[in-house]
Amino acid sequence: MKNIFSIPRNDLENYFININDKKFRATQIFEFLYKKRIYDINNMNNIGNNIKEKLRHDFDFSFIKIKLKQEDKDVKKYLFELSDGNLIESVLMYHDYGISICVSSQVGCNMGCAFCESGRLKKIRNLETYEVVQQILLIENDIKERISHVVVMGIGEPFDNYDNIMNFIRIINDPKGIDIGARHITVSTCGIVPKIKEFTNDFSQVNLAISLHAPNDTIRNKIMPISKAYKLNELMNSIKDYIKITNRRVTFEYIMLENINDTNECAKELSNLLKGINCYVNLIPYNETENIGFKRTKKMQILAFYDILKKNGINVTIRKEFGSKVDAACGQLRSNQN
Ligand code: SAH
Repeated sequence: MKNIFSIPRNDLENYFININDKKFRATQIFEFLYKKRIYDINNMNNIGNNIKEKLRHDFDFSFIKIKLKQEDKDVKKYLFELSDGNLIESVLMYHDYGISICVSSQVGCNMGCAFCESGRLKKIRNLETYEVVQQILLIENDIKERISHVVVMGIGEPFDNYDNIMNFIRIINDPKGIDIGARHITVSTCGIVPKIKEFTNDFSQVNLAISLHAPNDTIRNKIMPISKAYKLNELMNSIKDYIKITNRRVTFEYIMLENINDTNECAKELSNLLKGINCYVNLIPYNETENIGFKRTKKMQILAFYDILKKNGINVTIRKEFGSKVDAACGQLRSNQN
């Protein structure tokens, strides 16, 4: 039985048409779930008893659970327990421009990036759409405020769970749903090229971020196994096509790993790679974790790297750091809590 929070409005309309009810019913249900936040069918007035009965029979209305919440200045980390006992995390951040949430897309991850804590647990399964949607509903309920921005940058590779994550975006972007603007939604991928192409056609208004982390294949192969499947050249071509078709700017994430990808040479090579591309680069100070040997680049070198990109006309920022005290920072989220 499908969970009701997995169904985009279009599909729900088809459901109601199929059971000989009105298409409009889907909008009504969406308004109960996502506007009025009424989750108990008994409390949905204006819906006839026979339809209520049918919904109860055809859909699961259950929720994932908040198991633990940890707080630091400007950040809250939530540990969720799924109905099969698996665990995932999401992170809420307070910015001057609003409130953002970083959601997980899988339990574990198969991409195997050498520097990432989240990927030490291999993928157990994809998250269902409702499990991602409910991360938002439950956190909004907890803080009693609306979330303005969503990034799919938690545990997992969203493009390795494409269909469920795209339905998630449909639901949160729907004006009758959670109604978060496309330009306030960002999907981050390690570079699964065929899915970048699909995404270009399906969601031209949603932001795309690429975890690049290296200026050439030699370095990228060492730290990101996906790079063996899709060479940098192929990846860059898919991104250039994305920009041509959507007219949108792409974000490149670049973790600074000491003596791996952070030399002045790398900065020059990166500048050449990105020259003329409508993008900006987000330099991420690496968050060291106990289990992984990489070191964070010293502040001086991050600044030198930044300067070289700037001088070469590349838009670049150094990512503001959040949440390292509660292990809520990039690459620190985990599915297994041991
Ligand atoms: N799989 C997707 C979504 C995860 S995004 C992707 O790779 O884009 C998580 C981001 O945090 C990625 O850019 C990832 O490379 C980065 N990251 C992973 N480990 C990190 C760490 N220890 N410190 C800082 N950033 C890290």
